[in-house]
Amino acid sequence: MDVAILGAGYTGLWTAYYLLRHDPSLRVAIIERRIAGFGASGRNGGWCSSKLNISLDAVAEMYGRDRTQALQRALYDTVDEIGRVCASERIDAGFARVGALFVARFPYQAGMMREYAGMFERFGFGDRQGLLSAEETARRVRVKGALGAWHCPQYAHVQPARLVRGLARVVERLGGRIYEETEVTGIRPGGPGTRPALRTGRGDVRARAIVLAGEAYLTRLRPLHRSVLPAYSLIVLTEPLGAAQWGEIGWQGRECLASFRISIDYLSRTGDGRILFGGRGAPYRFGSAIADAYDRDTRTHEMLRRFARDWFPCLANARFTHAWGGPLGMPRDWMPGVLYDRTTGIASARGYTGHGVSASNLAGRTLADLLGDRRSPLTELPIAGHRSPSWEPEPLRWLGVRHVQRAMARLDEMGEKTGRAPTGATLAERLSRH
Ligand SMILES: Cc1cc2nc3c(=O)[nH]c(=O)nc-3n(C[C@H](O)[C@H](O)[C@H](O)COP(=O)(O)OP(=O)(O)OC[C@H]3O[C@@H](n4cnc5c(N)ncnc54)[C@H](O)[C@@H]3O)c2cc1C
Repeated sequence: MDVAILGAGYTGLWTAYYLLRHDPSLRVAIIERRIAGFGASGRNGGWCSSKLNISLDAVAEMYGRDRTQALQRALYDTVDEIGRVCASERIDAGFARVGALFVARFPYQAGMMREYAGMFERFGFGDRQGLLSAEETARRVRVKGALGAWHCPQYAHVQPARLVRGLARVVERLGGRIYEETEVTGIRPGGPGTRPALRTGRGDVRARAIVLAGEAYLTRLRPLHRSVLPAYSLIVLTEPLGAAQWGEIGWQGRECLASFRISIDYLSRTGDGRILFGGRGAPYRFGSAIADAYDRDTRTHEMLRRFARDWFPCLANARFTHAWGGPLGMPRDWMPGVLYDRTTGIASARGYTGHGVSASNLAGRTLADLLGDRRSPLTELPIAGHRSPSWEPEPLRWLGVRHVQRAMARLDEMGEKTGRAPTGATLAERLSRH
């Protein structure tokens, strides 16, 4: 085997796709514990975002202004690239360049919104964004309490499961092999005269290089246990809404929609006329535990339904038909890393902190260049070779993460009650670097 990949989510599949596009003779195998798209890639909010979840200021602190601008430009291009591949490979993922609206629903959020727009302006991206007044926002979508919105046209929306399943089919068409229902139980680094390998119950898969593309689930492999934190993002979905409800809400442009809540919310208008409302309130579990049972958390799902009705009062009697969730990978410094160690033959890409729909494509292209020994503008980006610090050992990790989760929720509550920017908002913003 030339390349063996752990995980058939976006990261593993985009990596395989670009490897095979560059060199159709490569033998590429993807080993997947469940089915292609089982992880976050098959069940996310569908935002194809043109930014990371770490601020430009924070990236510039580490890598300087020029490289930060290069990264941001690459992210804008990534949205186009995903649209291009969907069209050229006939992946019916409903890719639609709808843009994004980040709404300020309370005065404390309006301050954050202006700061955010100012940051993009300072980095020279003023022409890629704009601030909308309350009236301009309402012409697009009528959200209760909206004071204005940060508008970013360079966002798209996809049907996430169709994208990942479509991509899997394309990879197989190009000659990649996907082995589902096969768990990688360990990794063996390569060295002089030995190839690296993925260990499975059915034997080792040796290759010239192995790629670890398991995002949050990488925490289950001992050497990577503290490399990312599995953060649960949860979603509720309404029934298809009627014409009268859509008449009240507007949202004809189907923009990706969120507020400036510190503890994160995100909404989509689905292709079949429902509202998807997602958020990150679910508690971190001790020891970075991941279990199918955690995909549903009654309190968090109920909170999300309450939020949805608060955003759009006409949902008061609407039925919510679906609720689900899943883990995503958060590195300690919120910065994704795309790594390839030629000595051990081990590569990985991870830590998109909830922005992996587009970032995984950028990571896959970058990995393909690194594995192909090609120096390119992608391999010069700050994410290439970035190593985040490890998370703390338990019980410190649990104590710290739960404390920050509670503090963020409290800051939002205080901001909503008083209308003022809560003391500590800046601190929370730093922690979240949203
Ligand atoms: C509810 C939710 C909403 C989200 N919304 C958005 C959004 O709107 N926009 C956005 O950009 N991002 C969003 N994200 C994040 C985004 O979905 C992820 O960043 C992205 O899908 C990560 O892709 P991946 O391929 O790296 O990981 P995954 O999709 O998690 O894939 C990893 C794969 O590896 C497999 N695997 C794990 N361990 C093993 C093993 N030992 N052996 C074999 N296989 C293994 C898993 O089964 C899985 O299929 C969301 C995430 C969630 C959970």
